[in-house]
Amino acid sequence: MANPIEYLKGVGPQRAEMLQKELSIYTFKDLLEHFPYRHIDKTKINQVRDINPATDFIQLAGRITSMGIMGEKRSKRLVAELRDRSGTVELTWFQGIPWIQKMLVVGQAYQVYGKVNFFQGTPQLTHPEIESLTEENPAAARNFLEPVYSTTEKLKARGLGARQIANLTKALFLQVKEKDLPENLPEYVTKPLQLVPRFQALTHIHFPPSVEAWEQAMNRLKFEEFFIAQLRMHLVKAKRHRYSQGVVFRQVGEIFNTFYEKHLPFELTGAQKRVIKEIRKDTGSGRQMNRLLQGDVGSGKTIVALLVMLLAADNGYQSCLMAPTEILARQHFAGLQQLLDGLPVNIRILTGTTKAAERRDIFKKLASGEIQIIVGTHALLEDPVVFNNLGLSIVDEQHRFGVAQRAKLWAKATIPPHNLVMTATPIPRTLAMTAYGDLDYSVMDELPPNRKPILTVHRYDTARSQVMGFIKAEIELGRQCYIVFPLIEESEKLDYENLMKGYENVQAYFPEPKYWISMVHGRQPTDVKNTNMQRFVANDTQIMVATTVIEVGVNVPNASVMVIENAEKFGLSQLHQLRGRVGRGAEKSFCILLTSTKLNNDAKERIKTMCETTDGFKVAEKDLALRGPGDIEGTRQSGMLNFKLASIVEDREWLEAARAVAEKIADNDPELEAPENAILKEYLQSLRGKTAWSKIS
Ligand code: ADP
Ligand code: MG
Repeated sequence: MANPIEYLKGVGPQRAEMLQKELSIYTFKDLLEHFPYRHIDKTKINQVRDINPATDFIQLAGRITSMGIMGEKRSKRLVAELRDRSGTVELTWFQGIPWIQKMLVVGQAYQVYGKVNFFQGTPQLTHPEIESLTEENPAAARNFLEPVYSTTEKLKARGLGARQIANLTKALFLQVKEKDLPENLPEYVTKPLQLVPRFQALTHIHFPPSVEAWEQAMNRLKFEEFFIAQLRMHLVKAKRHRYSQGVVFRQVGEIFNTFYEKHLPFELTGAQKRVIKEIRKDTGSGRQMNRLLQGDVGSGKTIVALLVMLLAADNGYQSCLMAPTEILARQHFAGLQQLLDGLPVNIRILTGTTKAAERRDIFKKLASGEIQIIVGTHALLEDPVVFNNLGLSIVDEQHRFGVAQRAKLWAKATIPPHNLVMTATPIPRTLAMTAYGDLDYSVMDELPPNRKPILTVHRYDTARSQVMGFIKAEIELGRQCYIVFPLIEESEKLDYENLMKGYENVQAYFPEPKYWISMVHGRQPTDVKNTNMQRFVANDTQIMVATTVIEVGVNVPNASVMVIENAEKFGLSQLHQLRGRVGRGAEKSFCILLTSTKLNNDAKERIKTMCETTDGFKVAEKDLALRGPGDIEGTRQSGMLNFKLASIVEDREWLEAARAVAEKIADNDPELEAPENAILKEYLQSLRGKTAWSKIS
């Protein structure tokens, strides 16, 4: 199967080069895995009266009863009538007329296949495939569905259209034998799930004798895709559990207890307590913790992070908390500092804007172990950052960080530190299973008490002045308000002008000195951004006009209104993130989605979802269903979602099944030493180093 494609009958060096360039087909195996995107059903011969407005392609057999040229110039066409026992239908050609005219004989029998179009209510087959029927070649259904392959314009121009690729695939299957595509799943896996053998599946995915056979082939191959990915991930996890040494946080000590008893500003929710328990168990086990903490916006992940960092400090270890933006890092730092006031904990912040003298001081004290908690941005990953004994790394709002960056942080300690990854908003379970399947998984599905639900409404921008009136009333009540504008990179200039116009517009409604407005956007220098942010946090300004810079993490409990301009331009998870900026205090909060009156269906669906639910887990599922996994931020690079046939949206059951089996095998036989797992081991070894996955583990 590793044979270069050049050596397949009918290919040769020139076509091989084209196939490589255009479709990345280098080997026999690559062609085998260039699966058809649909099949043509020629297994039946239909009758003319079977044609109805829903008919797409059809195969018929009958006699040509008449033939003639119709129309002139561009509408000139050859029209023939085909009659079977049930009626007649028109066959039409616009091109190659002389040739068809010569070939077709009135009175003769033909089998035709083509796409049905309705022309002024009459069905016709335009440019059908046609084959003459004789006694030696009677009307006959094919015994398989014909595959249709994707190709490119360039390939078509060089005689490698869909049909030629089908011919190559046929040639391939004449050469390939069952032993070339051996079974790779043990029988105890395939049997209970009624999965067909691998060779059969790979044959039938191209040339299925029936729709059912194709479905069986699909099921088998989808399961295989999910299963192999899950098995690799769970084997890595099992190995890590068995062999990786972890820092041990043996005791809950002085700092943790003092904080918990004297400084904790509120009672923890049940979910927070449960997660802390899970983390304590991990960090006391002697193994490295790798845990994903999923919580909705506002579920209180920060305090969990702090408690775990105090646990580390009690045991003599340093912690770092990494945030994706400077604003967020600063806010974390300020919040944590406040919470830790009066406690003997040395906490510092390091970001891209930290001054040189300060940096040197921080580097020195991190290396000596004097600093117990360091908060920061990507700056923490830089080489001069050396820890004395890093025991815990926490990454907040993970989806902005790549896996490689995570690994870089871990490399800063001799015994790998415990890892806690906190998501900004929930991600769907199927995504978590595939993209973060190597991590253990905690869920905070409970919001702190006394949160008033956020009322979300949709308004057309023609109603802007009413919306501004509403904001005015809220400000009279002492509240604050966000007005967010989209900023999409490709059209940055346009959006920037849009933002400025919007700002002037808001100013017109809310003139100084009665009202004060902050503006924050990505083009401002960091210190300007921070000052403007700070003024809003301190309630010196009542309105924050911003781009999505404020999307992540910002916490101003007094803000009660979130207005999102051009809401149709935002994705669901972004809208949910933005909405999460309000509803953080005790006041009733509002999210107003402003859109133009022209909305496409997807946008309508997103807006509707937002108005219907505030549950981030539900929003996440809907987001995945609407956009598909490839577009969910930050997961593309994970390289784990590149399934050829399986879809984590539509094939959820197969994913669950694959995961269950993989997990069991990894638990019971992590080295795949059992004889019944030998074929698995062999197959995994044959894959080694050939997929993106190996770069991650
Ligand atoms: P997120 O999970 O989105 O990061 P935060 O950690 O920023 O949420 O918490 C949101 C707000 O809820 C903060 O103001 C925090 O002080 C508050 N909070 C967190 N836990 C609780 C709790 N158990 N009871 C009351 N308020 C809480
Ligand atoms: Mg947060």
